Amino acid sequence: MRFALVTGPLRWLIATHQVAGGEPARRTCAECGTRLWPSVGNPFGRCPFGHRVGAPAWLVEILVIVSIALVVLLSGPRPAAAFWLGCAIVLGTIDGLVHRLPLPLVGVMAGGTAALLALDAALGGGWDNLVRAGLAAAGLGVLFFLLCLPRNGFGLGDATLAVPIGLALGWFGWSAVLIWALLASLLAGATGVALLLLGKASRQTRIPMGPYMLIATVLAVAIS
Ligand SMILES: [Zn+2]
Repeated sequence: MRFALVTGPLRWLIATHQVAGGEPARRTCAECGTRLWPSVGNPFGRCPFGHRVGAPAWLVEILVIVSIALVVLLSGPRPAAAFWLGCAIVLGTIDGLVHRLPLPLVGVMAGGTAALLALDAALGGGWDNLVRAGLAAAGLGVLFFLLCLPRNGFGLGDATLAVPIGLALGWFGWSAVLIWALLASLLAGATGVALLLLGKASRQTRIPMGPYMLIATVLAVAIS
């Protein structure tokens, strides 16, 4: 039951933002008009009348269990890591479903992570970690903003997502940033090639970058 107190709100956030860019957040099931809260909190990814809403069945639940294990294993800023992972589950799933990263949610992720990291630094986690996190966030943010200008697959959402990703990577060291850059390109590249070979994508298909950037962050922190 307590588990659903975490997964329910995450599922609700995903379902309400499962709309095309520019459209307002959804409050009801698109098929039958049932209010999404609290009906969408179940693990089956369906409204009470069986229509698909939000994240696929059990996806959020599995990701939350993995996240709890990661936070328990982490020797570092656990509150910031838990908050970051919760936001990553929501944003990664939304990006995978409707290929967008809502700016207000990315802003909450960046602001909340920065505040919790600052609290950890103040409580003895180390100011040098916080400074490096800030530098990495600013650096990756600017770099991805420049990358998205020529419209080569990176969108503005990816550029803003680079800020909370930079915060997480920078805290753990510059080696994490380098490992992340390598892993993110490998993951996205391998998926792109696999989709081309399977005939499920053409060269023009835009792959959502958010999930790869987020998964690569978790792997890079784990490795470094
Ligand atoms: Zn429905």
